[in-house]
Amino acid sequence: MAKVFNWQLGRDMDYTYEAARPKRQASAVFDTNKCIACQTCTMACKTTWTSGKGQEYMFWNNVETKPWGSYPMAYDAKILDALGPQKWSKKEDGHIYGGKTIFESAPALERVMGILPDDLDYAYPNRGEDETNSIISQEKFYLRMPQDMWFFYLPRICNHCTYPACLAACPRAAIYKRQEDGIVLVDQARCRGYRECVRACPYKKVFYNHVTRISEKCVLCYPAVEKGIWPRCMRTCIGKIRMFGYLNQPEKVDPENPIDFLVHVRKVGLPLMPQLGLEPNIYYIPPVHVANTAFLNMLFGPNAMRAVETYKKAMAGEDPELVGAMLLNVSSDRIMTKFKVLGGKEVVGYGENGQEVIRIPMKEPTVVRPFYDDKLNVYRHNIT
Ligand code: SF4
Ligand code: SF4
Repeated sequence: MAKVFNWQLGRDMDYTYEAARPKRQASAVFDTNKCIACQTCTMACKTTWTSGKGQEYMFWNNVETKPWGSYPMAYDAKILDALGPQKWSKKEDGHIYGGKTIFESAPALERVMGILPDDLDYAYPNRGEDETNSIISQEKFYLRMPQDMWFFYLPRICNHCTYPACLAACPRAAIYKRQEDGIVLVDQARCRGYRECVRACPYKKVFYNHVTRISEKCVLCYPAVEKGIWPRCMRTCIGKIRMFGYLNQPEKVDPENPIDFLVHVRKVGLPLMPQLGLEPNIYYIPPVHVANTAFLNMLFGPNAMRAVETYKKAMAGEDPELVGAMLLNVSSDRIMTKFKVLGGKEVVGYGENGQEVIRIPMKEPTVVRPFYDDKLNVYRHNIT
């Protein structure tokens, strides 16, 4: 095992290979407060990449309802149970993870602590999911923030991890991370279908094709990304919850880069289960209505409540820059590497060679029409 630095853990950790960070890392931030579980992203991906034989059960993009939903069944509960209770400690500029990752907990002679799902675990996506976390007594049966009774939607794709467990576990070295953008791919010619990657990935985002007998996974729509265009699941998002771009390392933060701004500057974008040790590159803004700090910390790490507070302040009008960065979500299908909020009135997104890609007013103009128009003798309704 090599020693590599994982900034999400705040420390060095064991990994199968030496660190080989890509030139830049494709990344995204998902705002869970806006997801409506319409599954448009799921279908956009399904019809693009997994409509073939042996792919029937595959969802490279899925949306599950937390706390009960999961695909495949209980993938997260199983790995967290196997890992056992772990601890974070506070330090001056953040947190340091004192527990063990799935690489450091690997059984003797294995590279990763993994769990291979049963076939039936894939059989019931989204079945019976929209259930609240608990039944509460009648005297508490009113709405308040945060809510005692809650659920929220969690859209998931492959995290194109900095330290992928799928790659570490493959005995054929058939999985690789591209140097140009950090996208993790399976070399279909090298793969022999041993399913070590399926077992190792704690997010269960590699899938075995029973017809071709090789493994397949999300390719982050790399043919589009190479042309400067967002992946399909991102650009079709109805709830406009997604922001796609490139993430820099904490020591090279560019505050004008919208992804850096959300993840490193305002720190509202948090990794999914960072304690597992993969340094995943899809980030989540935690839900603000959930009254269960322990659950949010388990899912998004120890900074979850700080992110919730920062988000609430922005929504209360205290942080126009953060609102501006979030307004860029699904505002264009072109990759943006810079943004600026101009005079608190509009936000502008810029492409790689500095060209303006999009300009959005911070507030949409609204027109309130008189209910009764006596000139035309008609009644009009306002729906804003
Ligand atoms: S999420 Fe899973 S499949 Fe994707 S790169 Fe990480 S370990 Fe590999
Ligand atoms: S398309 Fe967007 S809003 Fe709809 S389920 Fe997917 S992530 Fe959520």
